[in-house]
Amino acid sequence: MATILAGEGDAVEATFAAEGARQPTPPTWQQAMKRAVRSGRQLCEMLQLPAEELVSLAAEQDFPVFAPLEWIARMRVGDPHDPLLRQVLASPEELSVATEASQGKPPTTADEVAMRRAAHTSMLDPVGDLPAQRGAGLLQKYRGRALLITSGACAVHCRYCFRRHFPYDSVEPGKVGWARSLEILKADDSLDEVILSGGDPLTVTDEQLSWLVTELNAIPHIRRIRIHTRVPVIIPQRICDSLLDWVEASRAAMYFVLHFNHPAEIDLQVQQRLTKLRRAGVTLLNQAVLLRHVNDSAAIQRELCQALVNLQVLPYYLHQLDLVRGAMHFEVDDTIAQAIIEELRASLPGYAVPKLVREIAGERSKTPV
Ligand SMILES: *Cc1c(COP(=O)(O)O)cnc(C)c1O
Ligand code: SF4
Repeated sequence: MATILAGEGDAVEATFAAEGARQPTPPTWQQAMKRAVRSGRQLCEMLQLPAEELVSLAAEQDFPVFAPLEWIARMRVGDPHDPLLRQVLASPEELSVATEASQGKPPTTADEVAMRRAAHTSMLDPVGDLPAQRGAGLLQKYRGRALLITSGACAVHCRYCFRRHFPYDSVEPGKVGWARSLEILKADDSLDEVILSGGDPLTVTDEQLSWLVTELNAIPHIRRIRIHTRVPVIIPQRICDSLLDWVEASRAAMYFVLHFNHPAEIDLQVQQRLTKLRRAGVTLLNQAVLLRHVNDSAAIQRELCQALVNLQVLPYYLHQLDLVRGAMHFEVDDTIAQAIIEELRASLPGYAVPKLVREIAGERSKTPV
């Protein structure tokens, strides 16, 4: 059972009138989290799609569905191939795991047992997060920068997520858990950057984030704070005044790495809130994941990159999928990925072309494809 679950809202059933659902105007981001849709069946009903063909309850049990109304409002009604829908709907394809080809047949030798166990482990932790832990919730893989798992919750559950099997229960979010990580950061002046990640750090309250950022700013060798977040994409009203307060107050340079995968994810609300964030002095970057039948064409990638640079968001990485159990149907061939990047290079300014990378456990950086 995956544990990237949206915080307090879990206990609250999503309630909405069918017609109200298409024009959501929640007053706060917390309210938006509470109103999120938590079942594929319900999502299909809202979009007038046949749930019995599209939804796998078994896949939902492995990793629950979680999609805020703000996100659903950007999907096309009646289109089972909608690229936003495909990122969140638990589909039967998740259960046909191509790389577990030997399923069903018992192993016959000790070697085979060991091999399968290794394959299984790497499918649960494909990017080697577990061995990179420096303390509960603090990961360091690369020189100079450490990553703090600030929260186990997200504002959306992306079916392709490489962290869908991460044991977030072992991480204690909040001030008590962070205090231990802060001690490690203070003691190591080879680190000049802290990455707040998760889950999604912006599912934490501004009161807590403001405390954390103040603590980080009190460590002289920390020069940059980077926030890896998908929340502004999913629930743009998260970029609220109380967030802008601690962002503007930071001594350390502030970077946000957003996560847009498709141009249809950018609506007017998103544009307006990102403009506020930029005016608060934040450098905005984007990382996308290359996903089959979502954004695996040069035309879509070009449109995405253009829309991003128009908003002064720089395309940073385009990730090749991490091979995680349940997400293999999103995989795109390296040759197709490279051809897409070549086309982007031939048609966009250099700064609008993301780096095509994949994460390989044990490497000193993300690896160019
Ligand atoms: C991806 C990642 C980073 C960030 O790498 P950059 O190349 O600096 O963007 C840092 N730490 C961990 C553990 C990561 O997985
Ligand atoms: S991709 Fe990001 S936002 Fe989506 S489930 Fe994974 S950690 Fe959460």
